[in-house]
Amino acid sequence: MVCETRTTCPYCGVGCGVIATVDDAGAVSVRGDPEHPANLGRLCSKGSALGETLDLDGRALFPMIDGRRARWDDALDLVAARFSAAIDAYGPDSVAFYVSGQLLTEDYYVANKLMKGFVGSANIDTNSRLCMASSVAGHRRAFGADTVPGCYEDLELADLIVLAGSNTAWCHPVLYQRIASAKARRPGLKVVVIDPRRTSTTDIADLHLAIRPDADVALFAGLFSHLVRAGAIDQSYIARHTTGFAEAFAAVDLSMADLIEATGLPSMQLREFFRLFAETEKVVTCYSQGINQSSCGTDKVNAILNCHLATGRIGRPGMGPFSLTGQPNAMGGREVGGLSNMLAAHMALENAADRERVQRFWNAPSIAQRPGLKAVDMFDAVADGRIKSLWIMSTNPVVSMPDADRVREAIRSCPFVVVSDIVAHTDTARLAHVLLPATGWGEKSGTVTNSERRISRQRAFLSAPEEARPDWWQISEVARRMGFGEAFDYSEPHQIFAEHAALSAFENNGMRDFDIGAWEAVTSEAYDALQPFQWPQRAGTAPSETRFFGDGVFYHGDNRARLVPVKPSMPAHHANEQEFILNSGRVRDHWHTMTRTGKSARLSAHMGEPFVELHPLDAEKVGIADADLVDVRGGSNKGVLLRALITERQQRGSVFVPMHWTAETSSLGRIDTLVPPLVDPISGQPALKQARVAITRY
Ligand code: SF4
Repeated sequence: MVCETRTTCPYCGVGCGVIATVDDAGAVSVRGDPEHPANLGRLCSKGSALGETLDLDGRALFPMIDGRRARWDDALDLVAARFSAAIDAYGPDSVAFYVSGQLLTEDYYVANKLMKGFVGSANIDTNSRLCMASSVAGHRRAFGADTVPGCYEDLELADLIVLAGSNTAWCHPVLYQRIASAKARRPGLKVVVIDPRRTSTTDIADLHLAIRPDADVALFAGLFSHLVRAGAIDQSYIARHTTGFAEAFAAVDLSMADLIEATGLPSMQLREFFRLFAETEKVVTCYSQGINQSSCGTDKVNAILNCHLATGRIGRPGMGPFSLTGQPNAMGGREVGGLSNMLAAHMALENAADRERVQRFWNAPSIAQRPGLKAVDMFDAVADGRIKSLWIMSTNPVVSMPDADRVREAIRSCPFVVVSDIVAHTDTARLAHVLLPATGWGEKSGTVTNSERRISRQRAFLSAPEEARPDWWQISEVARRMGFGEAFDYSEPHQIFAEHAALSAFENNGMRDFDIGAWEAVTSEAYDALQPFQWPQRAGTAPSETRFFGDGVFYHGDNRARLVPVKPSMPAHHANEQEFILNSGRVRDHWHTMTRTGKSARLSAHMGEPFVELHPLDAEKVGIADADLVDVRGGSNKGVLLRALITERQQRGSVFVPMHWTAETSSLGRIDTLVPPLVDPISGQPALKQARVAITRY
């Protein structure tokens, strides 16, 4: 009998609906769900190949202690004992969780609850720190809360779409398809792409601004200044709904010559961009890792938000700033407080009343009193011995963190490391004292939230293989063994979702609009049947009202948005003649470290090996020919070997390297070993696109 299940793609933040079909022989095929509002039946190459990635080869199937198969009880007892012992001897801040945007919301919620409410530390951070922490910080500065104002429909309603620091065609392919179809239907829709590289996304650009790496603050500051001088701002909106205009304007006093110098763009292109933005009412500015992964990422975000706030173009159909999240559930993690400086249900860790409220709701013995360690700081604390026990869930920091070799040595030196994963031999799992086998896509049940705040179900349609178990179950079992059983007495994920919903409504006087309280009594049947829906839902509004801030009411105490002064500056790491700026990112058909997409021959055929992309004139300067093996060497004299791909798509002075290959999949090196641990001072997000490298023919 053929069995069909509606679920959600586990890859990017678009959050496409998928219909998975299991046939009589157990083979799985997938197609896009025509009823899911995110994709309306579309899928990209990665999503459509999901059925090819589900074999058990390489899977973690049994708990392991020191490399030997163990009983679940023994493994869980050991984890609980070692975490409890560290807390008793050194205090709550001697332990840490490093989690992931791959986790389901229910997993995220339980991990956050255990660490913040029962251990009493905020040392839980996530690989989403590497992805969108600067957007979170920018939203909080401008809006008073981390709220994405718009929705995907705005892409079809806009007359101008600005794509900043985003290769949307490869990294959010279905959104790109939606934009491309809208443009085909309505050629008057203009697209501006801001990216140092020419990419597949620039194929639909009416204007490509090949900006100098990291000059986005200057570009948007210049735009802000132009909007003011051209009289294109909304004075009435600014007066009624914002504060900080004068200070923000004073900070962006740039001449055209300054702008040309800072951005590397010709004045004609700058003027054309400014004109388009000033003259078009319905503008959406989408931005992604080229904005966020920077030592000035939060300022970049606020520079963009300033332009939308000053024109009042926010939260109305077809207009607004739009952060595109990288991972499938980065947004779900934000909602339940998966970052070390947030509480659950978007309450603030720095707010004593919020802390007390969450503690009371959880009936917790304690509550974290101050923000915990952000990702880079967390691994520093592992390296210097402050962290005695570390639990890494569903992510591979030995590959993905900046200064990745140092992170590997830090984890190796940690007295006790637990790794929960679906894969047995990742670069990180090899270092685990205890490896806990997790259930993967198709085997686990829960919810995810996509970039437009839409909650969708991920539903199981396969049995859990061997002894693999869900992450929420593993965390709850450890909590029970640490003496917190009553608060972690979950047997089904719908109970966790209901509790999360109840917390969002708890003592919510309407100032916290993150209220999904209607779901607090959700039954197993209703949870199974849950249809994709957007939240937060503002008190007293209809479900069809899915945008925020169109009424000019924000979350700061005075209900006004903040225009934030941002000071344009040249990039911290400006390459000289001998150095190149290293830009890393995704290729079209692979996801993260390829543990799933690498199983599909079809996907692997697109890009078979890692490469370094460089401009022909740069290649000539350093004597490199196409397909040569190249030594790419970072500031700490670490190097990796990569095949040269010479292309005019690449801007002179910088090189591009894909991020997916690991020690497991390439003997030639991991690119993040070359990236220094430079972070944005506000968000703590690593500047993964600002390393300097030297390149030579091998
Ligand atoms: Fe999956 Fe993203 Fe592709 Fe949609 S666009 S199918 S969510 S990878």
